[in-house]
Amino acid sequence: MRIVALGGLGEIGRNMTVFEYGGKLLIVDCGVLFPEAHQPGVDVILPDFSYLRGRLDDIVGLVLTHGHEDHIGGVPYLLKERADIPVISAKLTLAFLKTKLQEHRINGKMVHVKEGDRRKFGPFDLEFLAVNHSIPDGLAVAIRTPAGLVLETGDFKMDQFPLDKRITDLAGFARLGEEGVDLFMPDSTNAEVPGFLAAEADLIPAIENVMRTAPRRVIVSSFASHVHRIQQIIDSAHKYNRKIAFVGRSMVRNMTTARELGYLKIPRGMLVDAKELEKMAPDKAVLICTGSQGEPMAALARMANGDHAIDLTEGDTVLLASSMVPGNETSIWRLINDLTKQGANVVHKGNAKVHVSGHASAGELVYCYNLVRPRNVLPVHGEHRHLKANAALAVRTGVDPKNVFIIEDGTTIDLKDGVAKISGSVPAGYVYVENMVAGAATEESLQDRIRLAEDGALTVLLIVNPDTGKLEEDPEFFAVGFAPTKKDLEKATGIVEKTLVSFRGDKTGQGAEKAISEGLVRWSDRALRRKPVTTVIIVES
Ligand SMILES: [Zn+2]
Repeated sequence: MRIVALGGLGEIGRNMTVFEYGGKLLIVDCGVLFPEAHQPGVDVILPDFSYLRGRLDDIVGLVLTHGHEDHIGGVPYLLKERADIPVISAKLTLAFLKTKLQEHRINGKMVHVKEGDRRKFGPFDLEFLAVNHSIPDGLAVAIRTPAGLVLETGDFKMDQFPLDKRITDLAGFARLGEEGVDLFMPDSTNAEVPGFLAAEADLIPAIENVMRTAPRRVIVSSFASHVHRIQQIIDSAHKYNRKIAFVGRSMVRNMTTARELGYLKIPRGMLVDAKELEKMAPDKAVLICTGSQGEPMAALARMANGDHAIDLTEGDTVLLASSMVPGNETSIWRLINDLTKQGANVVHKGNAKVHVSGHASAGELVYCYNLVRPRNVLPVHGEHRHLKANAALAVRTGVDPKNVFIIEDGTTIDLKDGVAKISGSVPAGYVYVENMVAGAATEESLQDRIRLAEDGALTVLLIVNPDTGKLEEDPEFFAVGFAPTKKDLEKATGIVEKTLVSFRGDKTGQGAEKAISEGLVRWSDRALRRKPVTTVIIVES
């Protein structure tokens, strides 16, 4: 069996692993990664599917461990390559996926499974186990082939008192351990965090405190997939006689789905629409929206900037019942400042116990290693430091260090008779999505955008006499993002004239345009310490 992660190793996002046996392929997860500041204009980042092209018909199924974007966000793009790949997952995950696929006008071939199910897809004998996470219906998957038994946990934690009483199936992990797990692939996100996570239910006192004491409206922001967190908010609001409204497209959509499928329970008459809620006594109102990460287009950021139908007022309370996803800290603090300026009292994980993570920390992972007792370990879902910390835990529990693999996206591992070996690598670079088009931006276009942001742009218009090849008029310079002086432009004109001379015979003019533009960038880099994105246009008089 060959195993290759096309994403998720070295980054928190775009999780995707391909398993190959007997010429057939099984994929586990197909997620997106969210862009950072150095990737301007990008919507999301996908795994590179080029390894699968030409073999798409050999794919027997795509297993989704749970419904988070970093595990399902790439599915529409994979299904654009082959629409009838069976998508195998639990009920809520497939329901969340379905609404996503509708945006892309794709139906998808769904295969419902649940914990305890054992199903064969091609040569892969799959068993699904319940795991607890920050979204309901998480599944770990055991993959059996004649080459060995693999257990991938998906994202998980070990809350022993979850709201849905569906705990991570440690008995199942132990049973697989008895059978002999040849390769264990555990979630690494919190491997650096010592000890054990608090229970989701431990947040009740802080949430209830807000509902009880807030003098006016409570505006809660959380992830639109965190059904259990939102259930706790609804329960607390109900206890203190408040009504709720959902605000924002993804929140309304997901909560409607979750409620229809029975994952979210809202007492009769408690849910009203946002307009109705506005008319109620402020101390009876709770708004539930997205935007806890400071996303500029989300409802909460727009409220913070006074740019939303819902006006924040002195005495409103904003509850950020969510994590600070690494990389988002600056925008979250800016959001908190903006909300405070509007007069809101902001309750967040820094000043109240209103969030617990969805990923097992070191103590929980160690339990898993001791239950599973794997022969080989491939830590997944994490940046390099997380993978390394997880690997160290495996070694500490007695796994032979040479059987623990800290590898990057694209590195292939071959598993045969219980022995795992690194066997090579395949392409696994970033594929950038813009306006729902994969590959719409490239590394080069991103470099240009960063250069535009840092160094500005310079456009030069030249009127040239076709007979003499010389300038008819002084060049026109248009600089954006910086202001060259008159003296600078005289120097630039000199470079233009000198370069033109050497291109007198060039009828197309394109060689001259390129050479002039390169000459100007070189000069500007030397003289002005900037390399503007330069465009030269030659017009014959
Ligand atoms: Zn997750």
